[in-house]
Amino acid sequence: MRCFAGASSALDFSSPSLLSSYRIRRRQLGGIGRRLVMNSVSSQARSRDSGGYDDGVVTEEEWGRWGAVSPLPAAVKQIVNDLKVLELKVNAQIEFGGNGGKLQGAFGAYEDKKHRATYEALEDPEKKFRFFSARQVACRLLGSRGYLCQKCWLAMEDCMCANVKPCDLWKRIRFWLYMHPRDFLRQNNTGKLLWQVFGVHSASLCIFGIAEDEEIMWDEFKRAGKSHVRCLYPNQNSELTLSVENAFGDSTSENPGSSMGDEDSTLHFILLDGTWNNSAAMLKRLKDHAKTVWGDEDLPCISLTTGASAMHKLRPQPSWDRTCTAAAAIGLLSELSLLPQLSSYGLDKQADAVEEALVVLLDSLTGRRLRMGRSITRKVRNTINIC
Ligand SMILES: [Zn+2]
Repeated sequence: MRCFAGASSALDFSSPSLLSSYRIRRRQLGGIGRRLVMNSVSSQARSRDSGGYDDGVVTEEEWGRWGAVSPLPAAVKQIVNDLKVLELKVNAQIEFGGNGGKLQGAFGAYEDKKHRATYEALEDPEKKFRFFSARQVACRLLGSRGYLCQKCWLAMEDCMCANVKPCDLWKRIRFWLYMHPRDFLRQNNTGKLLWQVFGVHSASLCIFGIAEDEEIMWDEFKRAGKSHVRCLYPNQNSELTLSVENAFGDSTSENPGSSMGDEDSTLHFILLDGTWNNSAAMLKRLKDHAKTVWGDEDLPCISLTTGASAMHKLRPQPSWDRTCTAAAAIGLLSELSLLPQLSSYGLDKQADAVEEALVVLLDSLTGRRLRMGRSITRKVRNTINIC
C-alpha cells in the first residue's frame, strides 16, 4: 500500500526536476566508487567469491542465472569475445564503472571509437539496432559480475531474495517482460520481480532487439494465435486499445475471456519494460512483427482502468507513464480477477504477491540509501525511483 501512496509522484518522468533528480539518484544507487577491473588477477580473485564466473567468457549457465529463458544470444557472446580480444590487443584492462556496465578508462576510450566504427559500418538499420542491444547486454553482463545478485539484480549486500515469497501464477496466463536493453540488470527495475515471484516460465524476459529472445516470444505467440496475445499499453484514446473489461468481459463472444478456462488456451500478456520515452519504439517493433505474422491488423492492446471504482480493491491506478512495470501487472491481475468467469483463479492473491515483492524492493533500495548515509524523509521515500 505505502509504495502506491508515493508512486504517482515518484514515477512522473514528465517533470524535468524529477527527471534530473532521478539521474542523480540513479548514479548514487548504482554504487559510486565501484570499479571493476577485468585483469586476470582481479578476475580470479573475484571468481572465488562471486559464484565462479569464468574469466572473460559468459557461459550458458551464467546467462540463465540472470533470469533469461533463451540460450546465450550469439551476438552477445561475440561482443564479449571481441572485448576480451581487444583487451589483449591494446594491452589495457577492461574497466567498468557507474551503473549499467559503462566501459571506462583507457580501454573504454579505445573501445568507444571501435564500437562506433562498427556501428557506422552496418548499413542495415535492423543490424545496427541489434548490435546496439547486444552490446548493451554484453557490457551489463560483464560489469555486473560479482557485484549484483543474479536473481534480484541488487548489489550483493542488498540482496532481497530471502524476503521474496514465490507464488504460482494461474497457468493460463503468461507474462512477457519486453525489456529495453538499458533496463537489463538495473537495480530499480521492477519487471524482474515478476519472474522472482512467478518463475521464469510464467513471467519471461524478452530483451528488445535480442534475436533469440524475440524469436522465442513470437514462436509462442504464433502457437497461441492472435486472439490470445495482448499488449498492455496506455493509449486509452485509441479505438484499438480496449479496457480489460471490454477485452475479456463479454463471455458470450469469441474472445479469450470466454475460453480462458480451456486447458490449452494460455493468454499471453506483453508488458513493455522500459522508460516512457522508449515504449513507443518498443510498441512499434511489436506491431511491425505482428503484421508480418498475422497480416495487416494491429497488435491487440489493452489498458488499465484509471481511477478504480469503489468496489475495486485496487489503489487508484496511476496512468501508465506514471507507473512501474510491476504495478502494471498488479493492476492487470486485479482487474482480471473482477471478471466473473475469472474470479475463482486467485488472481487477486497473485497480484498481492507481486505487491509484496515490490514493497521488499523499495525497502532494499531505501536501506541502501540509509546505509550510505543519506537521509530518508517521507518525501524521499516516496520518490525512490523504480521503473
Ligand atoms: Zn538476490
